[in-house]
Amino acid sequence: MSMSKRRPPNVPTDVFKYVKMGEPDKCWEWTGGLSGVDSRPYFSVDGKKLIAYRLVYSLIKGVSLDALRGVLLRHSCDNHICCNPSHLVEGTHQQNMDDMKERARHGLPTNTVKAIKRLILKQIPYSAIGERFGVSKSLISEIANGRAYAHVSITDGRFNDPLHSEDILEKKENADQGRNNQENK
Ligand SMILES: [Zn+2]
Repeated sequence: MSMSKRRPPNVPTDVFKYVKMGEPDKCWEWTGGLSGVDSRPYFSVDGKKLIAYRLVYSLIKGVSLDALRGVLLRHSCDNHICCNPSHLVEGTHQQNMDDMKERARHGLPTNTVKAIKRLILKQIPYSAIGERFGVSKSLISEIANGRAYAHVSITDGRFNDPLHSEDILEKKENADQGRNNQENK
């Protein structure tokens, strides 16, 4: 294949070409590429792979990506391909930890549990799922093997097959080694 005609390089605002922007209060889903073990939306600028919703957030809020370094952006809608800045909540790791305790005490909303179960089926590391939803890795593991939130069902029947869950659990435990806090390095 000839590469004689290359596309011009992306500029940051090109990110909006891949965002389905709709009503201000609805999710604006990412239609571009997904990358990494936890399939995050990404967009490349100057050869740098950026997390797409962080770039959108920075452009719309007028905060530089440098200023966002070390800031966690969590989805209040629990839709990890959503790029609507009003669905993104800034937090530090400490706030994330506090949130984690709070959510453990009061229980997770059903939609969140469903989203977590879908990600478990996609074999995403528990630590990455936990970070995304502000819950501990051990709770994700309990959800995976049916010790927690077993009453919340998703349409995929495999989830409720204990043998399959055990299988997932083992693979995840291996994949989890050394993958903590990957995003903010
Ligand atoms: Zn959203």
